[in-house]
Amino acid sequence: MSAQTRTACVALGANIGEPLRQIEAGFAALDALPGTRLIARSSLYRSAPVGYADQPDFINAVAMIETVLQPQALLDALLAIERAHGRVRDFPNAPRTLDLDIVLYGDLVLHEPGLTIPHARMLERAFVMLPLAEIAPDAGVPGHGTVRELAARLDAGSVAQLRRIPA
Ligand code: AMP
Repeated sequence: MSAQTRTACVALGANIGEPLRQIEAGFAALDALPGTRLIARSSLYRSAPVGYADQPDFINAVAMIETVLQPQALLDALLAIERAHGRVRDFPNAPRTLDLDIVLYGDLVLHEPGLTIPHARMLERAFVMLPLAEIAPDAGVPGHGTVRELAARLDAGSVAQLRRIPA
């Protein structure tokens, strides 16, 4: 890949339809983006819903990609993948067939309307930080520390690592 390639981390989540399949499809869709390849994927995790409790548990994971896409182009591509998987934005924290968030993009700090990097709520989310710590423990969250240190501070009780994909 070219010299402009950046490493980015993308959080995946799903809790309706067939979440395990949708997460797998999400990894494949990331790898298929133009100028992008999947270089690492975490295990799958199960987490209790946040914000709106009356919905199924989520399946979560984190992908590491190398990409030539700039942050806004990457976000647009993620939103297109979500739409292709039937995502409908009903209300905040609503159930979702596939949710894709940019967690880190190199060491970039970005605050633009509609796009904040690092992701604004990543530090409080064990379902993001634990899978991220699996594949990028030494990555820095600008202004905060390493993923390893930050993940270790969280209560992991609401998150379970899936050792194998259930039949
Ligand atoms: P949600 O699907 O509830 O996570 O919200 C998605 C919306 O959050 C998108 O339409 C983006 O405009 C906005 N957003 C802000 N920062 C990010 C980010 N780092 N990754 C993904 N979406 C983001």
